[in-house]
Amino acid sequence: MAEHILVLGDQLTERVGPLFSAEPDRARVLMIESRELAAGLPHHKQKLMLVFSAMRHFAQTLRERGFDVSYLQAANFATGIREYLDEFPGAELVVMRPTDWGVEREIIDAAVGAGAHVNVVDNELWLTSDAEFDAWAEGRKSLRLEYFYRSVRKARGWLMDGDKPVGGRWNYDAENRQVPGPGHDFPSVAGFEPDALTVEARAQVDATWPDHFGDTRAFAWPVTREQAVQALEDFVEHRLASFGPYEDAMVEGEDVLYHSLLSVPLNLGLLHPREVCERALAHASDPLNGVPLASIEGFIRQVLGWREFMRHIYRIGMPHLREANGLDATRPLPNLYWSGSTRMTCLQRSVDQIARTGHAHHIQRLMVLGNFALVAGVDPRELNDWFLATFVDALDWVVTPNVMGMSQFADLGSFTSKPYAASGKYIDRMSNYCASCAYDVKSVDGDNSCPMNSLYWSFIDRHRERWVANHRMAVIARGWAKRDPEAKARILARAGDVLEKLSDNTL
Ligand SMILES: Cc1cc2nc3c(=O)[nH]c(=O)nc-3n(C[C@H](O)[C@H](O)[C@H](O)COP(=O)(O)OP(=O)(O)OC[C@H]3O[C@@H](n4cnc5c(N)ncnc54)[C@H](O)[C@@H]3O)c2cc1C
Repeated sequence: MAEHILVLGDQLTERVGPLFSAEPDRARVLMIESRELAAGLPHHKQKLMLVFSAMRHFAQTLRERGFDVSYLQAANFATGIREYLDEFPGAELVVMRPTDWGVEREIIDAAVGAGAHVNVVDNELWLTSDAEFDAWAEGRKSLRLEYFYRSVRKARGWLMDGDKPVGGRWNYDAENRQVPGPGHDFPSVAGFEPDALTVEARAQVDATWPDHFGDTRAFAWPVTREQAVQALEDFVEHRLASFGPYEDAMVEGEDVLYHSLLSVPLNLGLLHPREVCERALAHASDPLNGVPLASIEGFIRQVLGWREFMRHIYRIGMPHLREANGLDATRPLPNLYWSGSTRMTCLQRSVDQIARTGHAHHIQRLMVLGNFALVAGVDPRELNDWFLATFVDALDWVVTPNVMGMSQFADLGSFTSKPYAASGKYIDRMSNYCASCAYDVKSVDGDNSCPMNSLYWSFIDRHRERWVANHRMAVIARGWAKRDPEAKARILARAGDVLEKLSDNTL
């Protein structure tokens, strides 16, 4: 009897899961492009190109290996599954557990409704299992990345010296806050020329969703396993060594700096996080490659730490995490998040970069786009949808904890101890954006003052009682309370003026 393997768009791998042991003469494959997913939000055109092209390439590879592949373009998963089961009545589908919330239910309901069964097996695209996280989390008062990361690093023996971290410290973040000086020579990044399948996907996306966000011209993302491996090699060889020191920096005109750009192939399943970590560790272990401990530790922290941690936070936090709004933020998402039209250089350059490439790095996401929405009091659910729509690497499991939890504090700190809120001072320290900005980052209340400054203080003021009770925010909140009332009134008036301009689209 043939096995019927359902392969989802973020599980494009033969290296783990049901396809690993499947024989082409004993297994059939079902893949479904869901129109509902594509059209549900104004997804970046490059994101749709990427997912369609990567799925179609994967189907082609499987066919070359001898598999029969039913590749369906359906209204949604349910109709696709029903269509397949009409052809193969009673077939038992096997699928790796979907990571995005609700998808497993949708698949099971569709199959059961058509009189069939689904065998949902473990999703082997992760480094840590649900059981490992749950055992670690059990009985803890608070869930913090730092302790989860230490536990999983120990368990894998990565960067360990017996029971102790190599170098004597778990965390080198303090060394990883450098800003490249003027004229710094960044390495170029390997991009991938669209082939016929990608060009076809581009034409289809441009014709079907012309009003979706972003531009397709600069598409250079990896869409096959071979390209994903090349992207990994390119990062490890040319950017890993400087990944740590410049991890938090932002530079006008530099999209990538030393970041890996590996979220795209990782989130599609084209790369396994284990091979990414092991390749980086192997490269760093050769002293001739000159990879400082702060760089390799910083990178492993992201992939073994943050990436795994966030998907568990999502798993245990859904569905309420997506609806959280603990700070009662109700401002509609400002239009500038779509248009990029503002005189604030940090926001303008970041939105422009996303429209062009579908990507911005972590600090642009957290400290520019997220921070501005947080201090301006934007409804976190609208921001979540925006992040989900506008980034090529966006999937619900990764966007929702990052936006609702890490960036917007909408869950009131289920895994963070304080909100990531900052004034323009932070952006000035970590970037060169302020030098070309129309606003004055040194001014807090003047007509031309940086909007982040007054909004930051109005955010502190708005939630002052909450911050006084938060041990990491209390000093700031008390300091604000003690300031001269007239100075405070001037700052709050300027914040009001900024918000008016934001609503009028004249900021
Ligand atoms: C508001 C906000 C929204 C985000 N949206 C996404 C998203 O849609 N998709 C996505 O993959 N990541 C998202 N992230 C996490 C992180 O910003 C991106 O993974 C990273 O910028 C991707 O670029 P890179 O591959 O060059 O990452 P690098 O800086 O090179 O980091 C290496 C890898 O670590 C992993 N990683 C690092 N931080 C995180 C994190 N906080 N959560 C999950 N994985 C992490 C990623 O897989 C990344 O590829 C978001 C973060 C924030 C604050």
